[in-house]
Amino acid sequence: MKKVTVIGAGQMGNGIAHSFAQHGNQVILLDISQASLDKAISTITKNLDRQVTKGILTEEQKSQTLSNITTQTDMAAAVQNAELVVEAATENLELKLKIFTQLDQLAPQDCILATNTSSISITRIAAATKRPDKVIGMHFMNPVPLMKLVEIIRGYSTSDAVTTTIIELSKSLQKVPVTVNDYPGFVANKILIPMINEAIWTLYTGTAGVEEIDNIMKLGMAHPMGPLRLADFIGLDTCLSIMRVLEDGFGQPKYAPCPLLVNMVNAGKTGDKSGEGFYNYADPKNPVVANSFLK
Ligand code: NAD
Repeated sequence: MKKVTVIGAGQMGNGIAHSFAQHGNQVILLDISQASLDKAISTITKNLDRQVTKGILTEEQKSQTLSNITTQTDMAAAVQNAELVVEAATENLELKLKIFTQLDQLAPQDCILATNTSSISITRIAAATKRPDKVIGMHFMNPVPLMKLVEIIRGYSTSDAVTTTIIELSKSLQKVPVTVNDYPGFVANKILIPMINEAIWTLYTGTAGVEEIDNIMKLGMAHPMGPLRLADFIGLDTCLSIMRVLEDGFGQPKYAPCPLLVNMVNAGKTGDKSGEGFYNYADPKNPVVANSFLK
């Protein structure tokens, strides 16, 4: 049993805490917001209930999982005995640098510091610490309890021993770890987000409408969700910020974000979370194509 501290109890943090606790680790979930912690525990409980209904877990395993999780708002108390920290706070470079500087001071010397960042350089985060060999990317996919992949990102200085530990730990969560190097977007988002951007260009140039583009990729390429629906699900602001990371990191025009994507983010049409993106979510179970493009 490992002592794991998860920093940030949002969408990803609650799923990461759930997965570690379900597989017998002692988890401390930390957030600056008590409301986020309360919401996370209620989400984890609901998701565990669903696993019990589906016969994946017993009632006893559910209770055991919940009893493996405690919450904290004080970082020193949360990490003082940690063997692993997984940071899943808001995607913001300055915030992550600050958190890793604090973690380096507060966590035991041999504690591994992992980050779930979608796009920030692991090497840059590691440089905020005096233990860059023990800093690694552990990129879980959303929703964490269901998705098998963990993209493991080796920073410039990450040691072989730390990489091996994180690979084995990911397997113990019944995930499939895939190890990659630290370049902009890593692998998952370097391929996925430009594909989404290309779908937006396809709409922008009038080649086809929203449903046509999504249907072609769903029915023709067996994607479970069309790229424009997926963009709304991820959040158009997140898609734009990852395109900016790729554009900045590689300096190639092929990574320029489509002007329609930029316009929609500026207009606050960020997808599911704002109620409208390429689709309108007034009835979330029955999204319909929004009709405000290209004005
Ligand atoms: P979120 O906004 O749902 O949650 C972020 C949480 O971090 C909030 O509860 C916030 O209160 C907390 N937080 C902010 N500052 C903090 C601090 N100083 N200390 C502790 N907690 C703090 O965000 P999310 O979608 O869960 O994303 C978290 C991380 O996971 C980001 O780095 C993101 O890029 C990455 N990620 C997200 C997804 C996704 O699909 N949402 C997928 C993979 C990776």
